[in-house]
Amino acid sequence: MTAASSARSDAVRALSIPRDLLPGDGRFGSGPSRIRGPQMEALQSASISVMGTSHRQAPVKDVVGRVREGLSTLFSLPEGYEIALGNGGSTAFWDMAVFELIERRSQHLVLGEFSQKFATEAAGAPHLQEPEVLRSEPGSLPVTVANPEVDAYAWPHNETSTGVMVPVRRPKGTTEDQLVLVDATSVAGAASVDITQTDAYYFAPQKAFASDGGLWLSVLSPAAIARIERLAAAEDRWTPAFLSLSTALDNSRKNQTLNTPAIATLVLLAEQIEWMLAQGGLAWADARTRTTSGMLQQWAARREEITPFVADPAARSQVVTTLDVDESIDATAITSVLRAHGVVDIEPYRKLGRNQLRIATFPAVGEEDVAALIAVLDHVLDATAGS
Ligand SMILES: *Cc1c(COP(=O)(O)O)cnc(C)c1O
Repeated sequence: MTAASSARSDAVRALSIPRDLLPGDGRFGSGPSRIRGPQMEALQSASISVMGTSHRQAPVKDVVGRVREGLSTLFSLPEGYEIALGNGGSTAFWDMAVFELIERRSQHLVLGEFSQKFATEAAGAPHLQEPEVLRSEPGSLPVTVANPEVDAYAWPHNETSTGVMVPVRRPKGTTEDQLVLVDATSVAGAASVDITQTDAYYFAPQKAFASDGGLWLSVLSPAAIARIERLAAAEDRWTPAFLSLSTALDNSRKNQTLNTPAIATLVLLAEQIEWMLAQGGLAWADARTRTTSGMLQQWAARREEITPFVADPAARSQVVTTLDVDESIDATAITSVLRAHGVVDIEPYRKLGRNQLRIATFPAVGEEDVAALIAVLDHVLDATAGS
């Protein structure tokens, strides 16, 4: 950095943003993400009746039941599909899939950090063959290619590290014994999806569902359930109990988890699902996130210092907007002055290493807050241009 640009960064960091420009809620992170006030109030009102009580008794099991039922409605659960859940977040689900969903060999689209992590787990498993990895540059979108040699296809519905959204559609030419495993961690509940195109549509509650971390949830197809049951019974495969999807499914059917869950996470999640349903369900959430992410894209089109990182408009995420900042401006100075004013978590994904802003517009983020964020960013950029 030159002395001039470093002085300019210091000037940006020292800016004072007028309070009346600031959003009512400054949380725009890609996860954990903002939790709405009424969810926290619901947690308070469950403080004696549910919190601190046994997860094997009705009060907690009823919350799990609300989650499973609410998700069934939200995703218009097709015939024979089931909702399973357990501890460990989406990261645990990858390992569970390695044990009881992938039979011999999987194909992975790798387009960023999260999709890479699942591919790495599959590649490391000694009981599986080397996975087929179809890779594309961060910010771009690879496509699945039907391959009769694989028994599972894996891709993220939304690659959170880059802000690329991948269509959820069974690859042409796939057979019934090839499963489609979609990592929907950061977009489930925020975008329309045809669940029949998937066999495992899995996610965690701390992103679009505005809850806290620690759980994984998955919508499982009859084909996935049959595969799980078969691999769980196979004599040539040992599965650690904690990673057994078959055990998780047995427990889920009883509205329980294998071991103790974070009850607060479940309460916040149940509240958010029911709120989404009351607003109009997935169609409502889809429309809202298209609008709010669209506002950010329109803003980027208007500012010459800002360029969408994802070049193809059709591949741009409706929940995680990644915007490159011109090299003459230090994006970390922008994110730090915003942070000092309570507008947080719009830093880019760390390993991507770009001069970038990454802004999440999950269903809990309203248009007025996005409009305020844009006003704040305009204020900072205009002040920067003048300095
Ligand atoms: C956040 C995220 C994960 C990891 O979720 P954890 O619950 O922290 O394990 C996995 N995949 C995607 C796409 C994510 O955004």
